[in-house]
Amino acid sequence: NADAAMYYAKENGRDNYQFFTREINQQVNERLLMENALRQALAQGQLEVYYQPQVALPGLAIVGVEALLRWHHPEWGMVSPGRFIPVAEETGLIVPIGEWVLREACAQQLRWRDEGLAVRMAVNLSSVQFQHGDLAGLITGIVTGMGAVPENIELEITESVVLDCADCARDTLTRLHELGFSIAMDDFGTGYSSLSYINQLPLDRIKIDQSFVRDITSNPQSSAIASAVVAMARSLDLQVIAEGVETAEQLEYLRLLECEELQGYLFGRPQPADAIGRLLRGDPPG
Ligand code: C2E
Ligand code: MG
Ligand code: MG
Ligand code: MG
Repeated sequence: NADAAMYYAKENGRDNYQFFTREINQQVNERLLMENALRQALAQGQLEVYYQPQVALPGLAIVGVEALLRWHHPEWGMVSPGRFIPVAEETGLIVPIGEWVLREACAQQLRWRDEGLAVRMAVNLSSVQFQHGDLAGLITGIVTGMGAVPENIELEITESVVLDCADCARDTLTRLHELGFSIAMDDFGTGYSSLSYINQLPLDRIKIDQSFVRDITSNPQSSAIASAVVAMARSLDLQVIAEGVETAEQLEYLRLLECEELQGYLFGRPQPADAIGRLLRGDPPG
């Protein structure tokens, strides 16, 4: 917060004040630069949707893919979603961008369906999208208007959706769920109040956050949490998928826990649609 930083800086003398204002100006400029660039990105076709496989145990067949946004900037190269999604959220640009991602993902799912390749399509939703108009109507209009089927689409939310507006999130998600969409709770276990909302929302699936998977074989606390999440999901009749699976050891550990599905670099990185199509058809890579 600029005012607070300025106050702090004043309290700490003139040199610090100048240092802080310079620092803040630089940050503000970077933000403005990225905001303007992001506005152009959508119009100029710099955005692309990549897809990452989700596999089911025991046979590791690909049952779904997650749509993950990529930004190829002409000068900066590939900008990571971790950097531009927050800017898109602060500026509201995530609303048109999120719509675009959903359209792209549906169109791709339909192309695969025409080839006889059936995969569930998971799309990430930002809490900001829940605060703009009738999100359930918008999503349903897009999906059914394109000829896709809500039952084959999964909507991923994070805890911030609930924190930003518990009531509107619940109403919107309940409608979407009634219309046939699956709802997945992303990054589960990293938030503040994970357990209090879990039975208030119409959830179908929990995604165990990759931070627990990363050291699941070496850190007893991580493996205890992963194991507890799987047990909780089973007793609440929720599906469970582990994120960030990178090694055969992690795979075997999650197999022992009887986790149902897995996602991670071990089974495939997020890739352009063509590469995922080859994986789905079982073509040799290349
Ligand atoms: P997320 O939804 O939790 O997506 C999973 C992230 O984990 C992706 O990062 C994916 O590339 C990464 N990942 C998958 N497997 C592995 C693995 O084995 N190891 C490691 N280290 N990482 C793995 P990505 O693509 O950089 O996206 C980051 C976040 O940006 C996403 O986290 C999601 O919160 C957000 N995001 C991406 N696309 C969209 C979008 O279309 N809309 C919205 N609202 N958010 C998006
Ligand atoms: Mg996700
Ligand atoms: Mg996640
Ligand atoms: Mg995440």
